[in-house]
Amino acid sequence: MKLAPWNLGDPLIEYDLVIKGGRVATTEGVSVMDVAIEGGEIAALGRGLQARRTLDAAGKLVLPGGVDAHCHIEQLSGGGLMNSDTFETATRSAAFGGTTTVISFAAQHRGDSLRDVVENYSRLAAAGAVTDYAFHLWISDPTPETLEQDLPRLIESGHRSIKIFMTYDRVRLLDEQILDVMMIARKHGAMVCAHAENHGMIKWMAERLVARGHIEPKFHGVSHPRVCEIEAFERLIRFSQLLDQPIMLFHVSTAEGAAVVRRARGEGIKVFAETCPQYLFLTAQDLNRPGLEGAKWMCSPPPRTTSDQDALWRGLDLGDLQVVSSDHAPYRFDSSGKLAAGAHPDFKQIANGLPGLETRLPLLFDAMVSQGRSSLEKFVELTATAPAKIYGLHPRKGAIAVGADADIAIWNPDREVTLTDDGLHDNVGYNPFAGRRLKGWPETVLRRGETIVANERLQAAPGSGELQLRGCSAAMRPTGRLSPEFDPATNFGARLL
Ligand SMILES: [Zn+2]
Repeated sequence: MKLAPWNLGDPLIEYDLVIKGGRVATTEGVSVMDVAIEGGEIAALGRGLQARRTLDAAGKLVLPGGVDAHCHIEQLSGGGLMNSDTFETATRSAAFGGTTTVISFAAQHRGDSLRDVVENYSRLAAAGAVTDYAFHLWISDPTPETLEQDLPRLIESGHRSIKIFMTYDRVRLLDEQILDVMMIARKHGAMVCAHAENHGMIKWMAERLVARGHIEPKFHGVSHPRVCEIEAFERLIRFSQLLDQPIMLFHVSTAEGAAVVRRARGEGIKVFAETCPQYLFLTAQDLNRPGLEGAKWMCSPPPRTTSDQDALWRGLDLGDLQVVSSDHAPYRFDSSGKLAAGAHPDFKQIANGLPGLETRLPLLFDAMVSQGRSSLEKFVELTATAPAKIYGLHPRKGAIAVGADADIAIWNPDREVTLTDDGLHDNVGYNPFAGRRLKGWPETVLRRGETIVANERLQAAPGSGELQLRGCSAAMRPTGRLSPEFDPATNFGARLL
């Protein structure tokens, strides 16, 4: 289905709702017009549209609701610790930040049936979510049952993305297991997303640091050397090349990592890449605080340097990196979360991750639009349209177009907000970006035409979000160029696909 961005609307029709007179960002550009909504969908874009109810958006921006394609919600981590957010608290926080669709994880741990895992997460989300949602299938136990039965069925039923880890003892896959998973994805049509860092280097570095007494949070960053990102990106890219299976490299943190992605794309390998606000706005210095305070800024990979930030922005500008997700991975700064291993943990005993669902869009809007680093169109692309397209949510999600779901955030471009530790709507209790003053904030948020946030109040009931089953997107399809070993014409006729 291809949606028309325009339908000027019949002046005789009275729609359910019209958002009047805002500056609307469609896939075609930005202009002042009305957005008419009927039955939860965008029914017309134009001027002078009539409705039973109107929302005045004069002086405001009318943007597609954000799509956050990487967040950990109500989930057991690779380290075995439960997130502090439920679907209710995480998606509430997302909604206040202008995000209307999230992709979180159905996280298989070893011994779990993937089918049961998806059922369990579906039940949790169905009870709590206020935004729409989908799941990445997180595979850490690629048994024959998982690979041959559950994974194909789940992909074909609309769970079109897979997450694999190249590090973390409890969840990482070996190279040959990754190839197995990629082959199934290729056959059935799914994106393979990866946490790509070299496991051995991280483990070896961390052991040496801890053995020498370098245990404070700031050494977490040192234990994830820059080169471990380069090595794992390069390795996974060659797997992608071998099998002609598209991949998404999650959370690019270094200039060299972005360069590896750029080169691979130049070679015609179908690799996509994401970065996150923590790599655009934080550095290793944020972890360098007295005592355990730096634990609040610990995430993997760690924030790097200001020159990495510049390189990542350039990568986004050039299209080498296509999406900015939050990697929301919430843990409270107390014994239920970051300090679960007691009052004197070494950095290896502290959970990795930061909250970011609510601040992703305002941080990027401030930098890209208010401060003028980029454009409103590019902001919409990175935070909504591109993730929706790559992950098979488009055309229902990610753009303001006739026929799309009426997922809309109305922004006040002039509103200034100073972030504080207790100003968010998640269940984390701190904000790694506290103290920053941002210009531009989403004030009214609609999901499928229903107002879910207005006047700083949540208006949606827990469980009103809906599961989004997805089709195979263009991004998920192989290029069709087989590596020689997979081409029967050049491999002595061997049939490997
Ligand atoms: Zn993550």
